Amino acid sequence: MPTPITAAVVREKFGAFAIDQLELTDPRPDEVLVRIVASGMCQTDLHGRDGYYNTPYPAVYGHEGAGIVQAVGKAVTKFSAGDHVVISFPWCGDCPNCRRDLPSHCMRGFDLKMRGTRADGSTLMRKDGAPVYSAFFQQSSFATHAIANERFIVKVRKDAPLELLGLFACSGQTGAGAVLNTMRPQPGDSFAVFGVGAVGLSGLMAAKIAGCDPIIAVDLHDDRLALARTLGATHVNVSALGNSVAQAQARAYQAVDRIKWVDGFCRRDIGFRAVEREKAS
Ligand SMILES: [Zn+2]
Ligand SMILES: [Zn+2]
Repeated sequence: MPTPITAAVVREKFGAFAIDQLELTDPRPDEVLVRIVASGMCQTDLHGRDGYYNTPYPAVYGHEGAGIVQAVGKAVTKFSAGDHVVISFPWCGDCPNCRRDLPSHCMRGFDLKMRGTRADGSTLMRKDGAPVYSAFFQQSSFATHAIANERFIVKVRKDAPLELLGLFACSGQTGAGAVLNTMRPQPGDSFAVFGVGAVGLSGLMAAKIAGCDPIIAVDLHDDRLALARTLGATHVNVSALGNSVAQAQARAYQAVDRIKWVDGFCRRDIGFRAVEREKAS
């Protein structure tokens, strides 16, 4: 029996998110039905709406879903009704990168995220019998309910606030993963981040955890920079773009010069202390 749901449907390129009543198919043996409590909104959802990925219309976007499991397929063993979960990004599990435990580099990842269908081409949602492209990132979380494969779901503590957890599905792990898994900074390394939205702030917090110092945040918005300070930025820099290319370049150079100064100052300071220690010994 399909589940009647409410979803935000986009019917054309650059179209509005229109609230509509749809039908959601039943979960397959390895799938989980989740009642969405909250979903983050990422720029990728807006790019999808605007046709950047050629996802067919009508479509339901949303890929930072957090919610409560309502039902599970027969083969699902790790989840049961009532579990609190976050739905993360999909991967195929078969390609060379997936087999090397690099699911974020899945060679079929783009299709699984953007095509609006399961891997076999089926859609999850319908409107009066017609397909709605609804497996965006294999979840389409801009809806009251979503279906996802159990491989892409992470169980979370029941006392954690679900309304705040959705962003860990994308921006949280994108920013923190880039810093902790790829940059791998050492304590005392300097760190600068350009743009402190959800991804940038996640990277900044990871840099703080890694012991980076100084931590420099650059953004166009004072309010974001104020937030960056509360999360660990030791220096902030407004890089207002101005009204012309020349102004934008000048401001960008100013920001980089300022960072060099902060970084250079600290490095000289560290170097000086090292020399002092050598003299004393
Ligand atoms: Zn995203
Ligand atoms: Zn793969």
